Amino acid sequence: MQKPQHTADYGGKLRLSTRLGLYLRRPELLVFLPALSLIAFWAGGEGAMMITALGLPVLFAFAGAFRDGDKTDFRLPDSLGGLALRPHITKFLDGILRDVSVTGKSTTCFVIQFDDADVLLDRHGRAVQTEVLARSAERLCAALREGDTVARLEGGGFAIALAPMRRMDLEGMIQVATRLQAALASPISIDAARIYVSCSIGFCLGPKSPLPTGASLLDAAQVAADDAGRNGPGAIRAYTSGMARKRADRDAFRSELELALDEGHIRPHFQPQICTDTGAISGFEALARWHHAERGLIPPAEFLPAIEEAGLSERLGEVILYHALAALVHWDKAGLHVPNVGVNFSSAELRNPRLAEKLKWELDRFDLTPDRLCVEILETVIAETDNDVIVHNISALAKLGCGIDLDDFGTGHASITNIRRFAVRRIKIDRSFVTKVDEDREQQKLVSGILSLAERMGLETLAEGVETKGEHAMLAQLGCGHVQGFLFGRPMPFDATQSWILEQHAHRSALPMIGSRTR
Ligand code: C2E
Ligand code: CA
Ligand code: CA
Repeated sequence: MQKPQHTADYGGKLRLSTRLGLYLRRPELLVFLPALSLIAFWAGGEGAMMITALGLPVLFAFAGAFRDGDKTDFRLPDSLGGLALRPHITKFLDGILRDVSVTGKSTTCFVIQFDDADVLLDRHGRAVQTEVLARSAERLCAALREGDTVARLEGGGFAIALAPMRRMDLEGMIQVATRLQAALASPISIDAARIYVSCSIGFCLGPKSPLPTGASLLDAAQVAADDAGRNGPGAIRAYTSGMARKRADRDAFRSELELALDEGHIRPHFQPQICTDTGAISGFEALARWHHAERGLIPPAEFLPAIEEAGLSERLGEVILYHALAALVHWDKAGLHVPNVGVNFSSAELRNPRLAEKLKWELDRFDLTPDRLCVEILETVIAETDNDVIVHNISALAKLGCGIDLDDFGTGHASITNIRRFAVRRIKIDRSFVTKVDEDREQQKLVSGILSLAERMGLETLAEGVETKGEHAMLAQLGCGHVQGFLFGRPMPFDATQSWILEQHAHRSALPMIGSRTR
């Protein structure tokens, strides 16, 4: 790539010498050479004509008109190391944007991000990921034209700057993005594996850049790529100013979340779980709630996605675990018999290689035995995971003595092999199977099937979302071991649990007590 110019006045007035330099780098102007030579002959005689005819081409050559203009050094990398990096492409873009008033040519910047980059890393490891990136870079280079520049970005994506061009429209740029996606769509063979990747692409046309600088244009393309990633897989988005506003709002929300976690405004509420045979409390599930000063109580569905996106899942996990273990200690001290507390673990937390060690340390700190903690893991996580760390963690937690609860069972296609491999102790039958189980024959068949499978595998069972006495009665009759739902108690703040437990002890007989079916 021709090194970008380094005049400091981006977007401002270009110095006369700079302008002259730019004109001298346009070889097409030499079509006027015969006319200029004639004028020189007419004005100054033969000598003047000779000087013009020979001197002008030499002058153009010195100015770089015949060099390979905007072609890039970075187009055909032997490996990823051969690609340009962010500073290079920023400078390249800077140069084009700075000269646009003279050349009339602008550029478009694309940012390419792989969908499910984490999954690729989890499944195939770092070496394969690097190889996939290198092959993808080659394919992108092959799909581009001479003069375009490809750069590698820090997070495993790519940025592309198109060579300066006079006419650019949205439709044409969408076509370029589609071409780039197609270039990456065919499988990549590495050893015996065929790996499929897809990508989301964001782009910003030079004239739409918030500021006429390379950094701003690249940043705008990145904002568009992030938006595409959220709407992916395989989405394409052009930058609009509304996107920047949305990002600012998200950044503000992230700061608000961090503060809420630090200042204890996000903490768990506790929902009771009841043993169907005895009516006794078998545990409480800790469910995150945000106590917001203005908006009141915010349920997790409204902030968990933002927590995940902001990379705060582990921090949330620590906060909830701390409160859950502290609650057990308080109940113990008050002489209230609560066997265990269930805590939901996200896949981000389960990817921490030191999770088992961290949990053991926390349990020791509270002087609690591991069986007091139930680790709730979504069936989708167990069904999909090929991640060695997650596999190792779940086994390590089970070995430590924590109960493993398979959450939302029935929604995630976990195989029997995986249920065994992860030493699952109990399945939590998803609410969608429980609703109207007493009225709907199909529901009954499904729940009954799940319960007999669990019985054969020696697993305990809990039905979630029990709302009516009829549902409870049917579940008990079908042989479900534990129940949880609004019928017994909604998730409540810790301070409300003590009186709830005492009331439950006092009125145990008043609760619907239905003997379980003998199978
Ligand atoms: P989940 O683990 O399946 O939790 C059960 C959800 O069902 C809770 O919603 C609970 O309030 C609701 N529920 C309980 N009984 C009934 C009922 O009888 N009827 C109905 N309609 N709903 C009932 P919540 O608290 O809004 O939590 C939603 C999801 O958010 C949870 O689903 C869990 O996946 C996630 N979550 C909650 N807290 C945490 C947390 O601390 N960490 C992580 N990673 N995820 C959490
Ligand atoms: Ca749960
Ligand atoms: Ca659940």
